[in-house]
Amino acid sequence: SRWVYSFGGGGADGDASMKNLLGGKGANLAEMSSLGLPVPPGFTITTEACVHYYSNDKTYPEGLKEQVIAGLAKVETITGKVFGDAANPLLVSVRSGARASMPGMMDTVLNLGLNDQTVEGLAKLAGDRRFAFDSYRRFIQMYSAVVLDLDHHMFEDILDEQKERLDVTVDTALSAEDWEKVVGAYKAAVERELGHPFPQDPQAQLWGAISAVFASWMNDRAKFYRRMHDIPESWGTAVNVQSMVFGNMGDSSATGVAFTRNPSTGEARLYGEFLINAQGEDVVAGIRTPQALTRAAREEMGEKSPSMEEALPDVFKEFKSVVEKLEQHYRDMQDIEFTVEKGRLYMLQTRNGKRTAKAALKVAVDLANEGLITKEEAVMRIEPGSLDQLLHPTIDPASPRDVITSGLPASPGAATGKVVFDADEAEKMAAAGESVILVREETSPEDIHGMHAAKAILTARGGMTSHAAVVARGMGRPCVSGASELYIDDAAQTFRARNRTFKAGDIITIDGSKGEVLSGAVQMIEPELTGDFAALMVWADAIRRLKVRANAETATDAAAARQFGAEGIGLVRSEHMFFDAVRIAAVREMILADDRAGREQALAKMLVMQREDFVQLFSIMEGLPVTFRLLDPPLHEFLPHTAEDVEAVSKATGLDAAKLLARAKELHEVNPMLGHRGCRLGVAYPEIYEMQVRAILEAAIEVVASGKAAPIPEIMHPLVSKGLEMKFLRELTDRVAKQVMAEKGVTIDYRVGTMVELPRAAIRADDLAEHAEFFSFGTNDLTQTTFGISRDDSGRFLGAYIDKGIFERDPFVTLDQEGVGDLIRIAVERGRKTRPDIKLGICGEHGGDPASIDFCEKVGLDYVSCSPFRVPIARLAAAQAAI
Ligand code: ADP
Ligand code: MG
Ligand code: MG
Repeated sequence: SRWVYSFGGGGADGDASMKNLLGGKGANLAEMSSLGLPVPPGFTITTEACVHYYSNDKTYPEGLKEQVIAGLAKVETITGKVFGDAANPLLVSVRSGARASMPGMMDTVLNLGLNDQTVEGLAKLAGDRRFAFDSYRRFIQMYSAVVLDLDHHMFEDILDEQKERLDVTVDTALSAEDWEKVVGAYKAAVERELGHPFPQDPQAQLWGAISAVFASWMNDRAKFYRRMHDIPESWGTAVNVQSMVFGNMGDSSATGVAFTRNPSTGEARLYGEFLINAQGEDVVAGIRTPQALTRAAREEMGEKSPSMEEALPDVFKEFKSVVEKLEQHYRDMQDIEFTVEKGRLYMLQTRNGKRTAKAALKVAVDLANEGLITKEEAVMRIEPGSLDQLLHPTIDPASPRDVITSGLPASPGAATGKVVFDADEAEKMAAAGESVILVREETSPEDIHGMHAAKAILTARGGMTSHAAVVARGMGRPCVSGASELYIDDAAQTFRARNRTFKAGDIITIDGSKGEVLSGAVQMIEPELTGDFAALMVWADAIRRLKVRANAETATDAAAARQFGAEGIGLVRSEHMFFDAVRIAAVREMILADDRAGREQALAKMLVMQREDFVQLFSIMEGLPVTFRLLDPPLHEFLPHTAEDVEAVSKATGLDAAKLLARAKELHEVNPMLGHRGCRLGVAYPEIYEMQVRAILEAAIEVVASGKAAPIPEIMHPLVSKGLEMKFLRELTDRVAKQVMAEKGVTIDYRVGTMVELPRAAIRADDLAEHAEFFSFGTNDLTQTTFGISRDDSGRFLGAYIDKGIFERDPFVTLDQEGVGDLIRIAVERGRKTRPDIKLGICGEHGGDPASIDFCEKVGLDYVSCSPFRVPIARLAAAQAAI
């Protein structure tokens, strides 16, 4: 079979589509050759040869030797030089190159083919002895490090000694004789270390380098990089053997790297660096300061040394037209490596350039506007999750960071504020206009108001799906969770980490994207929602079928949701409005009431508050649908738990302490997640749900009366599992709604539906649909109940499952499309059988996850609902799912 593909001389055996076989570098060298660009000729040994090498005890496949010899012969023909010939030597580079780019992870050897004879030939040919010995010493050093496994410091020390002896600081000050001496010292050092001389036979050098490149596929750096980027080990690397061109042949020679656009901002301007009289890695090695490519860039940086445009004007002109051609051809921003040998340009590499999220957005939008790609392609080129970086304030990368400690990057973005250890205190200080950071051991539902008031949240315990993490993401607050070095002393109002102590009121900064806690304030970069971002969103909106709503309870979140383009609210967790310090008193009064009459008295107070909140939400949403989920958590969550808390509550509210404690005990459940919660509360205490339905309808009527757009309330019953349950709830809802509409003499177009969050509900969706006009898949609970795994406890063992490959991903982050997905498919099918026009949505955390959104598109849901800050991500993901 075929292991070797040639390129150069105006053509190639391969092309850019053959990355799997030739690696990215090899495929693009072939493509550039065929385009007629100046590429030094060479050949690529396929990734399949590498795979064969590793699956056959590190032996080369049959036929490889012969094919390499033939490949080399072709290069000799094109270049007119001969490999190993003392008078007219061909030198080559041996370069790694995998399918996916792994910059700097694997090895490359330059100037291969030099020995004590060929170096003389090279000197004569070039008419430059200094250049020849400079190349030889480079080769010995590189080959020794990469192939012979010798420490490169040894060579650097020898060179430094030589420079000291000559009293010079830069390499360029060394003469031919100096380099000859260095070469002699290098060779002696190799012989001393290895017990045999540096290999002089070019064939032996070549095969040594080929096997070293194969071996570099398995070095620790490469393994680590693959793990980080999900690159399979089974791919293997290709090897490119290419004739050398020399950027170190004097002042009309140079080497450099370029991006066709700025990779950090996306600005459409050639960007890069080069060095005169240099080779290979000199540009990135930092030995000399590289120069700018364009005059404009040089002037902007206030640099003195001339740019390429000024120093080599003719080559630069050619270079500019080549890179433009490359960008047009690949239809994307290119990352390019090039060399100039005595005024002649050579292209050594091109690939789609890596870029920041911001640059990716600008490049995609610009390329579409330039007509190089379609709007669909522009939409497909942005990783939806990367928008996260653009939607939150982030820390200026140029700003110094004084890291106090680190934890999990639980919710992205960054914020600065004063340390506060208590939710009520956070609320108070925020109300007084202070920016605060809530620092807690961990958070619970009672802290919600404090979390909302805080600019960011820091916890010592808890994982990526802990309460703090989930709530913070929902609210768009930056959060670092599980900062395990953090020791909080509540009594002293201090925290300690890495031997430093901070007290309440001290200023800290949370970097939720990195998972770091910094001391003091740090320079921020504000998000930009106009310009390129807005343009891309308009294109995405025109493409997608799925509607996107937000989960929101507060006026702030609802307004943010609209700003981010939400088309309604998919989930109002009605109980969230009761967690603030004042309102929770009314809830507790309701819970403590001895009879229905007492309960109704408390409920009357709650009605006023809920109605007020709902009026606000309807007004902000201006006629867009709003889905209210009726009371869901067990009542126990609203009661104080410890004796201390009970006393404090009793003092503050006048409620009897003993009674509070007794009631809390009564309501205690062994497994509250599967206990008296959701619609089970509405069935046991219908007056609670009646109050909420009334509040919704009265609020809607009030909004209509004030002349605003008529709201479309969707009343949603949580945790339903049976048709009869749904029937009871539907009748309750309709009865109250009718009554309210009759009282006010106004008709409201409302809908009644349910969350589908229990397996039974999904399986018997046809029964539920008899009475439910919409389903919203509550995939958080549905995942918990399908797997029988409590999300709050999953952190303890999920890691082991992911390590062992039993779970590929955390099912609470990315929807389990097989199991939970099957239940959704069943519910969609059976629900539609009963009620063809049933409205279907999703409101779990998965509603903002791109992979899960793709699934929602495939099963034909009508909308996804997610936290406000994820709305743009969902809009983009929905568009990609539709393409
Ligand atoms: P990496 O994948 O680490 O970038 P490369 O194989 O691209 O490694 O090689 C690094 C550098 O070596 C190139 O950018 C180029 O400057 C130099 N180089 C590689 N091959 C040649 C060659 N045939 N002629 C001149 N320089 C070369
Ligand atoms: Mg390279
Ligand atoms: Mg639920």
